[in-house]
Amino acid sequence: MRPNESIVVINAGSSSIKFSLYSGAQLELTFRGKIENLYSGITHFAAVDAQENSIGERHWAEAPLDHEAAMRFLFEFADSHLDGHQVVAVGHRIVHGGVHYSGPRRLDGAVLAQLEKLIPLAPLHLPHNLAPVRAMMALAPELPQVGCFDTAFHVGQPAAAQSFALPQRITGQGVRRYGFHGLSYEYIALSLPTVDATLAQARVVAAHLGNGASMCAIHAGRSVASTMGFTAVDGLPMGTRCGALDPGVVLYLIDELGMSVAAVQKMLYQESGLLGVSGIASDMRTLEQSSDPRARQAIDLMVYRIGRELGSLSAALGGLDALVFSGGIGENSASLRAAVCAQAAWLGVQLDASANAASGHGIRRISADSSRVAVWVVPANEELMIAQHTQDLLEPL
Ligand code: ADP
Repeated sequence: MRPNESIVVINAGSSSIKFSLYSGAQLELTFRGKIENLYSGITHFAAVDAQENSIGERHWAEAPLDHEAAMRFLFEFADSHLDGHQVVAVGHRIVHGGVHYSGPRRLDGAVLAQLEKLIPLAPLHLPHNLAPVRAMMALAPELPQVGCFDTAFHVGQPAAAQSFALPQRITGQGVRRYGFHGLSYEYIALSLPTVDATLAQARVVAAHLGNGASMCAIHAGRSVASTMGFTAVDGLPMGTRCGALDPGVVLYLIDELGMSVAAVQKMLYQESGLLGVSGIASDMRTLEQSSDPRARQAIDLMVYRIGRELGSLSAALGGLDALVFSGGIGENSASLRAAVCAQAAWLGVQLDASANAASGHGIRRISADSSRVAVWVVPANEELMIAQHTQDLLEPL
C-alpha cells in the first residue's frame, strides 16, 4: 500500500459499530472510534486519533440510527477526516465463515449470498456483521471489501476437536465445534514469535478474556482446540453468557420449568455468567471493586473454570510451554491473572509478582525466570489483523 492509502476496518455488533483507519504499508493506526446504541436509546458516536485525542463526537437525540444510517455517517466522517489519504478497501470482522472459509475472502454478491445461508448458525451476530457490508456495497460499489472470519483460524483443528458425539444425521448438517475469537488468537500466534523466536513451535494456551471469553490451544501457530464450540456461548463463563452447561439443564428449563426457547436463549446469553452469578454486574472492574460476597463468588467461579479449561487444553496439546492473557480482563486484571496462575502451579506456571502487577503497554512477559511455562500478556488487536489480511488480499505476493 502507498503512504497515502488507507484501509477501513469495521467490527459491527448488534448495537454498535467499531471502526478504525490504518494507513500506509506499515498500517499505522490513523484514527478509530465507535458508534453505539444503534436501534435503541441515544445513538452516540466518538472518534479519537492515534494519540487518543478526540476528533469527533455526536449524539442523535431524536431517533436512534440503524446499521445502514450508521455506515452512511461513518463513511462521510471518514471522508472528511482522510487528510489527503484515499480509502482503498474495507475489512470486516465476520463471526462465522462455516466450514469453507478458512481464510479472509474478497466479498461480492455471491459470497454474501453464501454467508447469508450461515445466519442460522450465528443468528445473534452474523446479520449485524453483514449489514455494514451490504451498506458499503451500496455506498461505494467499486471499493473492495474483505471478510475476515472469527472461525477461520480454527478450521484446521483435528477432527476429534471439532466433533460432537451426536448422530451423523445431525453432525452432517454442520452441527460441530467451530470455535470463535479466531482473529484475536491469530494475532497472538503471530505476535509471540516476534518477542521470543522459540514460541513459534511452542504449545500455547491463549485466554481471550473480555465481555466474551474463550481459550484456545495453539501448537506451532495453529489452533488445535478451543473452548467455544458450535456457538459463542460455550466454554468459559463470560460477562453475561453461561459458558459450558450440561445440555440436560436446557431440557429441564423447557420441560419442567416451562420456559420458552426465547426465554432460555435470553437467559443463557444475557442474564448469566458474571452478571447472573453475582446479581450485580457483568463488568469485571465493578465486581473487583465490590465488597459483596456474590461478586467474589462470580470471580472465583470464572477463575476455577479457566483453570479447568487450562488443564483440558494442555491435555489436547500434550503439555504446556506458554500461557497468554488477552482481552479487557486478561490485559488489565492483575488479580485475576495471579489467581489463575496460582491455580496452574501444578503445570509449572510461576508468576513474577511485580511484573504481573506493573501496568504496561504492549506485549510483556509476566512469569518468573524460573517458570517452566512462560506467561505473557498480549493486548488484543483483532482490528490490525483484519487490516493486514485486507492488505494481503489486495496485494497478493
Ligand atoms: P469486548 O469483549 O466487549 O471487546 P473487552 O475486551 O473490552 O470487551 O473487555 C471488557 C471487560 O474487561 C470488562 O469486564 C471490563 O470490566 C474488563 N476490564 C477492563 N479494564 C479492566 C481493569 N482495569 N481491571 C479489571 N477488568 C477490566
